[in-house]
Amino acid sequence: MQEKYIDETKQGEAYAIAEKPQNNKKLFLESYGCQMNFSDSEIVASILSEQGYNTTLKPEEADLILLNTCSIREKAEQTVRMRLSQFKSLKKERPNLTVGVLGCMAERLKTKFLEEEQLVDLVVGPDAYRDLPNLLKETDSGRDAINVILSKDETYADINPVRLGGNGVTAYVTITRGCDNMCTFCVVPFTRGRERSRDPHSIIEECKNLWENGYKEITLLGQNVDSYLWYGGGAKKDFKNASEMQKLTAVNFAQLLDMVAVAVPEMRIRFSTSNPHDMTVDVFQVMAKHKNICKYVHLPVQSGSDRILEKMNRQHTREEYLTLIKKAKEIVPEIAFSQDMIVGFCGETEEDHQQTLSLMREVEYDYGYMFAYSERPGTAAHKKMMDDIPADVKQRRLAEVIALQGELSRKRMEGYVGKIHEVLIEGISKKNENQWKGRNSQNAVCVFNKKEGQNIGDMVSVFVHGNTQGTLLGETVMA
Ligand code: SF4
Repeated sequence: MQEKYIDETKQGEAYAIAEKPQNNKKLFLESYGCQMNFSDSEIVASILSEQGYNTTLKPEEADLILLNTCSIREKAEQTVRMRLSQFKSLKKERPNLTVGVLGCMAERLKTKFLEEEQLVDLVVGPDAYRDLPNLLKETDSGRDAINVILSKDETYADINPVRLGGNGVTAYVTITRGCDNMCTFCVVPFTRGRERSRDPHSIIEECKNLWENGYKEITLLGQNVDSYLWYGGGAKKDFKNASEMQKLTAVNFAQLLDMVAVAVPEMRIRFSTSNPHDMTVDVFQVMAKHKNICKYVHLPVQSGSDRILEKMNRQHTREEYLTLIKKAKEIVPEIAFSQDMIVGFCGETEEDHQQTLSLMREVEYDYGYMFAYSERPGTAAHKKMMDDIPADVKQRRLAEVIALQGELSRKRMEGYVGKIHEVLIEGISKKNENQWKGRNSQNAVCVFNKKEGQNIGDMVSVFVHGNTQGTLLGETVMA
């Protein structure tokens, strides 16, 4: 999962919500990186709200400052270090202020973070958030505290996330943690540990709870949702009879998707991130079976060259990837795809690069997340391969991939014109306050004029009469 556009240069996002009146401490929590981190921050806010902390948007009034960090590329880490330096004066003014780092960079650097960043008092890895109350007792008594132990079974399934920010109609529901795939360029297996799947009952409970609280769309979230596999008998009370218990001893991703679609039939369902090596055709069959499952898949490929795919240890070939896409389009004709691409990986030739461009033309993605290779310490590529592609060549190839994706996106957007789409109103258009914004089933952003009686959270029918490279322009019509 190098998914989700991670603008490493951008300062992280902090959210605050009205929480418990009895809480008398303030938490400033800022998140960086992928959606997993944002969802983890909701778990952290929940754990700390039980410890007397309400969230604040103002670091200057916080008792505790936490940065949930990303380590996906060098730039992401530089941004975190820059941000930390901005708290130096605050710490000087208020020595009792506790500053902590969470997430992947904390896990990657461990005690080095305490050595390198004097103002940091607390370092906590993605699997150790339950230990925060104990660790804060340490820092409250003036000692540094750290817990970066990775777990084989921690899923925080019993912790009700505190929904931070967002629009109150779309939410993420984590279904797996960690990754076993070991792609040679990726730090995730080292910073988030082994793969583990969450109990399907707790997932369904959370989805039902979100529906009851007015949410209209969920995204089932994991580094690699396709390898979701839950083994477990669950509590006896959950089952009407022995045979039902027998049946539910193992649940794979297609089965979970089917169960969620049935459990919350009016809730719109998305999932991310998929992995071509683990994805199976039955997922597409479940997508075709349920109207409430969106017809869109984020399917990273990283390269179009078999030689580079092998060096990346992606465990699939170009042909296998294209066959999967072909089958998906047969089973779900209206399906749309987005991609992740890395250019300039170790040893990438001009021919490999042309393979990437030709694969993009063959799939015709709606959009993608494209980056130049950034060597990450500790990965197999860092240990065994040379980062030998010159920066200017990386930038030229990246520009070509982005330009091609721009053409493909515009072509795909044009394909949606002249049709009526079901769109969930998610908020007000940034560019025009008299317009709503939302997404169609294929995850394409759509803007259209507001009409009397419409509200955020409404599902409306939109006739699309125009487009830009990344946005559909429409008008609501009677369904
Ligand atoms: S190891 Fe591969 S599949 Fe796993 S998170 Fe990293 S890029 Fe994704």
